[in-house]
Amino acid sequence: MDQSKEIYAARVRSLAPAEEPERQYYFIDVMRSILAEKAAQAGRSLTMNVVTFGCQMNAKDSETLTGILSAIGYEDSDSEDADLVLYNTCTVRENANSRVYGRIGYLGNRKKKNPDKRIILCGCMMQEPQAVEKIRKSYRFVDVIFGTHNIYKLAELLFEREVQGSLVVDVWDQASGIVEDLPRRNKYGFKAGINIMYGCNNFCSYCIVPYVRGRERSRSAEDIVAEARHLAENGVREVMLLGQNVNSYGKNTPEGISFAQLLHRVSEVEGIRRIRFMTPHPKDLSDELIAEIASNDKVCKHVHLPLQSGSSRILKAMNRHYTKEQYLALVDRIKERIPGVAVTTDIIVGFPGETEEDFEETVDVVRKAGFMAAYTFLYSKRTGTPAATMENQVPDDIAGERFKRLLTAVGEVSAKQAEAYAGATEDVLCEEYKAEEELMTGRLDNNLLVHFPAEKSLLGEIVKVELTTCKGFYYLGKLCRSK
Ligand code: SF4
Repeated sequence: MDQSKEIYAARVRSLAPAEEPERQYYFIDVMRSILAEKAAQAGRSLTMNVVTFGCQMNAKDSETLTGILSAIGYEDSDSEDADLVLYNTCTVRENANSRVYGRIGYLGNRKKKNPDKRIILCGCMMQEPQAVEKIRKSYRFVDVIFGTHNIYKLAELLFEREVQGSLVVDVWDQASGIVEDLPRRNKYGFKAGINIMYGCNNFCSYCIVPYVRGRERSRSAEDIVAEARHLAENGVREVMLLGQNVNSYGKNTPEGISFAQLLHRVSEVEGIRRIRFMTPHPKDLSDELIAEIASNDKVCKHVHLPLQSGSSRILKAMNRHYTKEQYLALVDRIKERIPGVAVTTDIIVGFPGETEEDFEETVDVVRKAGFMAAYTFLYSKRTGTPAATMENQVPDDIAGERFKRLLTAVGEVSAKQAEAYAGATEDVLCEEYKAEEELMTGRLDNNLLVHFPAEKSLLGEIVKVELTTCKGFYYLGKLCRSK
């Protein structure tokens, strides 16, 4: 760093507030001036492209990252030719890492044409020291790397990159607390996710999440309700409360509020019409939660309950802490006590040691539980997890063949569940509009999708739709009237 830059950097750092989020708002202001100067030199606005890989938690983090970049002054672009490209990475599947390396290489070529381009990498993959090492060695054109615990520092890290002129790496092993009230940009105006907790304590043997996202930390109920209120005031009608295992919500907070109590508090926010949540672990879904879903009109009658396997033996090897029988008893309890509820699930096929009998147990649960939908995955070995070193990995051809059979079973079962709604008239939230076909896509309270002709102006409204034709896992319908 030349001397004048060093003096400037030292002065900026010395004036930065110590407290968060004030410190980050300060760096957003600093970066806004730097960016305005660059834009003036270029004679155009500078653009950003934020690419999100992986799950809902990453999507949620990307809303904050995009919010910070917008506050700095970057304008949206759909192209990776943008002046700043940010990859919020996922590491749940091993081959996802290779794909990211390929794409970083491509960004390097684009940077040759625009040397002032900024390439930012963050998210779960960056929590892995080997990944960071590889990028340091082989992708030296990358500008900033950070992990999952300090996304709130984006503006400060961008400032450090500007003054240091070389790669800035800031990856933490664990979180230091939860920083509230950062700028955020919500993808849809009418629905939004709210993180209620971070991390996971469960250590399912195939999953890397607890290693890269750390232990469970719950946000305070007060902050969550305030966020829901703020969203409602800005037109949001549906919120989804997000956590790796929402049943653990509140266990480590002084307030000691349970997840069911939290749902109740959020439902008291005026303007919020629907509340969803993702994901409850079957091992600790309480009767209190079932009662709250059943009795609270705003809580959607949809429970996504990851099964993973129907074999008690495999569930033990997965470290899931429930048996086939316990899972089925739970589904029965949910269906008995919540009229009209839809249960959906996740299933992994081909976990190490899975025999034909184990697989048949899974198909048996699919039939007995009557899932409305099931997201099915072929087991994929994830280095760093206990399952990756287990013996008896299932050959690809056998796993592939079971996967196809499972899809058939799931298709039959979910079609049967969906058919039960034929001819019904239901409340539907209008979520997406396809202009070419003048078709709206909406979602029932129980998560079932319906496509129906409607005007674009209904986006975000809850309307009455008659479900006319069942197409397996979705419906074609007819708009009745706006609510
Ligand atoms: S509950 Fe299991 S699968 Fe879900 S994030 Fe935690 S360890 Fe992974």
